[in-house]
Formats: sequence, structure tokens, C-alpha cells
Amino acid sequence: MRHYDYAVIGGGIFGCYAALFLAGRGASVVLIEKEQFLFRKASLVNQARLHSGYHYPRSLATAAMSDEHKERFTAEHRDFVHSSFEKYYAIDKYGSFTDPSQFERFCAYLRIRCERTDDHPLFNYDRLEAVYRTEEHSFDPVLLGNFYSERVANCSTIELLTGSRLVEAGSSGTSWGMTVQTPRGMLSLETDAVINATYAATNSINRLFGLDSLALTHEISEIGFITSGQFANKGLTVMDGPFGSIMPYGLSGLLSLSSVAYTHHAVSTDEVPVFDCQIPGDDSCTPQAPGLCTDCPRRPVSNAGKMLAQMKRYFSDSVQFDYLFSYFTIKSKLQASYIDDGRPTEISMLSEKPRFYCLFAGKINSIYEVEKIFR
Ligand SMILES: Cc1cc2nc3c(=O)[nH]c(=O)nc-3n(C[C@H](O)[C@H](O)[C@H](O)COP(=O)(O)OP(=O)(O)OC[C@H]3O[C@@H](n4cnc5c(N)ncnc54)[C@H](O)[C@@H]3O)c2cc1C
Repeated sequence: MRHYDYAVIGGGIFGCYAALFLAGRGASVVLIEKEQFLFRKASLVNQARLHSGYHYPRSLATAAMSDEHKERFTAEHRDFVHSSFEKYYAIDKYGSFTDPSQFERFCAYLRIRCERTDDHPLFNYDRLEAVYRTEEHSFDPVLLGNFYSERVANCSTIELLTGSRLVEAGSSGTSWGMTVQTPRGMLSLETDAVINATYAATNSINRLFGLDSLALTHEISEIGFITSGQFANKGLTVMDGPFGSIMPYGLSGLLSLSSVAYTHHAVSTDEVPVFDCQIPGDDSCTPQAPGLCTDCPRRPVSNAGKMLAQMKRYFSDSVQFDYLFSYFTIKSKLQASYIDDGRPTEISMLSEKPRFYCLFAGKINSIYEVEKIFR
């Protein structure tokens, strides 16, 4: 029976950051990841927006949290942040929850750059109520993944178990006992504290420990990847409603394409992500332990054509885009966020003796929230 100070379950950016942070304070840590490699799910398949607050005109709390961590995240990941592109936010003439005066007040309150731009040649002002030049950056998920994978691999006090899945857990009152199925067979572990950083699998892990679930909604989501000669190194996000976004995916030279109306293919409001594409007998993806949607032969048919058609309305005819490919993953969000579209990062202690922390992530640059708990 191996003993660790902490067991971190889930090897996305939050699990990796938590493991490294705790190891840096002298703790022994085991990091358990279901897939063969770290960083394959939400931490890879996202819009790569290094949030500065603009995206949440109805959630001051999320906007303020984004702003709080932006500078530190940029400073500590400088080589993986694209900070030299033109970023625009715009308001559709029809159906937005935000209007120009509200957005301008919101930006003034947050003290973030917001310059109205009424004559940009690449945009279609017949469809746009207002366009703003803003300042927002983009992180590179692939480079971030490499960076964190290397740091975890080189940390002598983190034992990394990839391709491994928790099958049983129980409390002795002072510590947790866990059985983990690894590629080399079953392993029994004991740990003083558990951190659940499994995002879409949050509730199935909580349940394994006999703890409460969060009220979540799960969506199979698609991010398209495109290029454009005319709109290279620029980004446009149309808010706040069923609109979309095109912006640099880090330093890759690609633009990510997403749309509130078409990015989400299937929705599950069950405790764990239940989808029709999961089939009995296929252990690589179950509601309890979801798999890698991009690699799945049963992934949804791409909506990239629809997303692009929707976004093209906002551009002048001279702007052309070429679609390359799409990534898919499960996006999970707190049901309570339905009202204000907020994406807070919530860390709750679900058991005190022994300790169990549920870390449900809202945005990449809020990794530092972890430190507030383990101070
Ligand atoms: C479509 C989409 C767009 C987004 N856009 C942005 C954006 O532009 N900017 C931004 O800041 N944020 C964005 N987000 C949110 C952000 O990506 C997530 O908040 C963040 O990546 C979550 O990180 P994580 O480490 O908690 O989860 P993940 O990266 O999903 O990692 C969880 C890990 O847990 C593992 N796991 C699951 N079950 C088990 C198990 N039983 N045992 C062991 N391991 C397990 C998984 O395999 C996975 O590797 C977006 C999310 C999505 C899905």
C-alpha cells in the first residue's frame, strides 16, 4: 500500500497545476489520469481565450476573476501567450442581451480597453450595432500542455499514473483508501487528501467517494479550426447571446471557430454526462468516465459549415475563410450559471476528515484559485 499526502485525480491544467503547487510545498502527490496523456480534454479543446473580462457582461464576478488572474497567468506563461493580435468585440443588431451603452459602462467599471470602431473595412456594419477594439490575448493549449506535462514528468515528488482509472474508494476516518486500475494491474493507495479535478467526470468521482454531486450541464462541443488571408492574426467575438467567435488559437497560426448556437451538439443535464453515442461494452467512454470525443468514430457530424456561415455575416465580402478540421470535447458548466452565463471556478471541501476537495474549473487562467485553498 503506497501512501501519499495528496491524490489528484484528473490531468488537465487544473490537476497538473494543483499537483505541482502541492509538490512545490513539499507534499508527496499521486496524479491519476484516465487517458494515456495529460491535457487531452477541455484543457486542449477550447477557444484559447485568455479572458480579460469582456466575455461576461452579465457576470461581474466572472469578469473580475478573469481580470484578477490575467496578468500573473501571462507573466508565468509568457512563451505560450499570443499577445500581439487585434481583438474586437461586437454587438449584433438583433437579439443581443447587451447593448452598446451597457457594454461601455461595464468596460469602464472593469477599466479594460474598449474603443468604438465605426469604420473597419473588414466588418459588415449593416449587421453589427457596434464594434470595439479591445485588448485580449490567447494562450496556446498545445504548448501549455507540453509545458505542464514536462514539469509533472520532471517533478520527483509527483507519481504520475496515466491510462489509470479509480475503481474504488473508501474512508478510514483519517485517510482515503483507493484502488486504481493501471496499465500494469490494480494498485492500492492511501492518501490524506483527494483533489477531484476531472471536470466532466466531477460527479462520478464525487459519487465514488460517497460525496455530493454538483448540478451540472454537459455539452458535446466542437471547436473548428480555420485560416484566413484577410483576417489573419485578428479576432472577433460577437456577444452576448447565440452568436460566435473567431480568434487566434494561441501561437499556432490557426483561428478557432465557435458559436453559441452550433458549437454544442448534444446536451446532458444528468449528474454525469449521458449521451446516445456512448454504447454498452465500450469502456473507453462511459457516462462515469467519458472518453476522447475527437478520436471517437461516433463523434457528431461537424457544424463548422453552419458556424462559418453565421460568422460570415459579420464580415465584409472581401474576407474569406478556409476550414481545416475540428476538435470535440465535453464542456461542463454549473447549472446555476444559466442566468448570468458566468464561469466561476469553484473549489469546495466536500469532506473534512479525511479531506476531499472538488475543483470545478471555469476558465484556464483561474488555476491560481487552487492556492487560496491550500495556503
Ligand atoms: C469548448 C470549450 C471552450 C472553452 N473555452 C475557453 C476559453 O476560451 N478560455 C478559457 O479560459 N476556458 C475555456 N474553457 C474552459 C476550460 O477549458 C476549462 O475550464 C478547463 O480546461 C478545465 O480544466 P480541467 O483541468 O479542470 O479539465 P480537463 O482539461 O477536462 O481535465 C480533466 C481530466 O480529468 C481526466 N479524468 C476524467 N475522469 C477521470 C477518472 N475517472 N480518472 C482519472 N482521470 C480522469 C480527464 O481525462 C481529463 O484529462 C472552454 C471549455 C470548453 C470545453
